[in-house]
Amino acid sequence: MSREQGARAIFLDRDGTLIEDTGYPNDPERVSLLAGVGEALGQLKGRGFLLILVSNQSGIGRGLVTPDAAEEVHRRMAVLLQAKGVKLDGAYYCYHTPEQACDCRKPAPGMLLQAARDFGLNLARCFLVGDKSSDLEAGHRAGCKTIFLSSARPADSSHAGLGAIAHDWRGVLEKIQADDEQTARIAANARRVIAGQE
Ligand SMILES: [Zn+2]
Repeated sequence: MSREQGARAIFLDRDGTLIEDTGYPNDPERVSLLAGVGEALGQLKGRGFLLILVSNQSGIGRGLVTPDAAEEVHRRMAVLLQAKGVKLDGAYYCYHTPEQACDCRKPAPGMLLQAARDFGLNLARCFLVGDKSSDLEAGHRAGCKTIFLSSARPADSSHAGLGAIAHDWRGVLEKIQADDEQTARIAANARRVIAGQE
């Protein structure tokens, strides 16, 4: 398989990116999607992206959240997405605490690398969308493009240089569309150069 081939995906953080970060990640009743998530994910799927959740949930490792409660929250989110016509292609959760020093807890890229193996992804063609610098760093370390979703708080200059910034899901969609168009232009120019040489 050449570098240009391979599936592409959007890696999605969960709390503060797909669903409101309520501070109660163990209560399915409080799960609500962020504005525009369903529409944006539907369009991204239409552009050929797989949708893959990558979430740190150390509350389980700390014993604050039971695995059953975590599963309920995931199921509730899936139901809300389904109501918008969206189904995630994959979901990866890290239950470890920082002290366990695993290789999956973001900012480590382990969940992204595992997904790349599982789905045959070309990571250079993938995006990570997240609201924390640990998300962006994980994306960078995996070799993905990153989009910082800054809807919940003022833009933080410490994220500068870590990728594009979007203020809502419409902005995320626009960034990805613009990137696709630029990639298509570069490819068209390259074809022209090759044609010119022949
Ligand atoms: Zn882990």
